[in-house]
Amino acid sequence: MSAGRGSAGGAMEMGEVSSLSSGKQDSALTVSAVRRLQFCAGHRVYKHESKCANLHGHNYVLFLHATAEADDASHQDGLDSLGRVVDFGKLKQLFNPWLEDNWDHGFILFKEDEEAVAALSRFPEQKLFLLDTNPTAENMARFILKDLAPRLLEGSGVKLTKVVLWETENCFAEVEYARS
Ligand SMILES: [Zn+2]
Repeated sequence: MSAGRGSAGGAMEMGEVSSLSSGKQDSALTVSAVRRLQFCAGHRVYKHESKCANLHGHNYVLFLHATAEADDASHQDGLDSLGRVVDFGKLKQLFNPWLEDNWDHGFILFKEDEEAVAALSRFPEQKLFLLDTNPTAENMARFILKDLAPRLLEGSGVKLTKVVLWETENCFAEVEYARS
């Protein structure tokens, strides 16, 4: 399922999705709360064979999937006392400040892309974020899931299991923990 496409209807805000999917048994459910966030950023794909080697930017759309396991027919196990995986607003509260400070309206570059790093470093006020990997949508989504989320969610009791990052209207990458 493509996050954000299904409508939960009712009073939910745009960009907020909850879903229930059946597990192997009728009583075993995975419950996800998905928060949509947006940011604009520049990047280039280091050593790309074609036009993505140019410095350019995207309006990124990010979907954060927080998940709980529910174990009985009441659907309450794994959820809080109000029946939530996590409050949608809390995901925004936890992630948006980091995105605004580090990525939004900045440039994201591979740390080994010395030419682009040197060029943008000539602008002292330029927001510049260096990744350990090439800043493809795949690697950016992986960074959010594996590096950023554990730090931002520490002590919150919330676990992200999947990150989907739309780079254009037609292209997205998704990263999730393999299910055992
Ligand atoms: Zn691009």
